[in-house]
Amino acid sequence: MKRIAISVGLAVLVAASALAQQHIVITPSGARPTIYGPPQAYTGRAVADTLVAPNDPSHVMAVNITFEPGARTAWHNHPAGQYLIVTSGVGWVQERGGKKREVHPGDVIWTPPGVAHWHGATAKNAMSHLAVWEFVDGSGGQLMEHVSDADYLAE
Ligand code: MN
Repeated sequence: MKRIAISVGLAVLVAASALAQQHIVITPSGARPTIYGPPQAYTGRAVADTLVAPNDPSHVMAVNITFEPGARTAWHNHPAGQYLIVTSGVGWVQERGGKKREVHPGDVIWTPPGVAHWHGATAKNAMSHLAVWEFVDGSGGQLMEHVSDADYLAE
């Protein structure tokens, strides 16, 4: 009886140590190359640094993006929504059917799942934001048409 108890105890210890095999990972600054936002997804120049990519079981993506004046995403959505945290400059965001809104450093913008929207710099100022969103079934969202100059510049 005592031997069984010891065996069970050892099995628990072995299982616990198997779970403890994962360790903290520090990805040093600069480990991933900076990229330009692809022209099918952006108007103007956007510079992107990916900080976090989906890593099962986590499906979170986090990217620092800097938009030059006039630069913005195309219309798009995200399956599980998206947070944008403005870190510098002045930006614009808009959801389909809504008014364009100005955002500033420290503002946190939440776009609900499936809501078509765009984000970018204003016409006169650059803007940087940290974008955080989750992938669902391998998809971070659907890309739509570019934001026209008329829509971008509308009051
Ligand atoms: Mn978005």
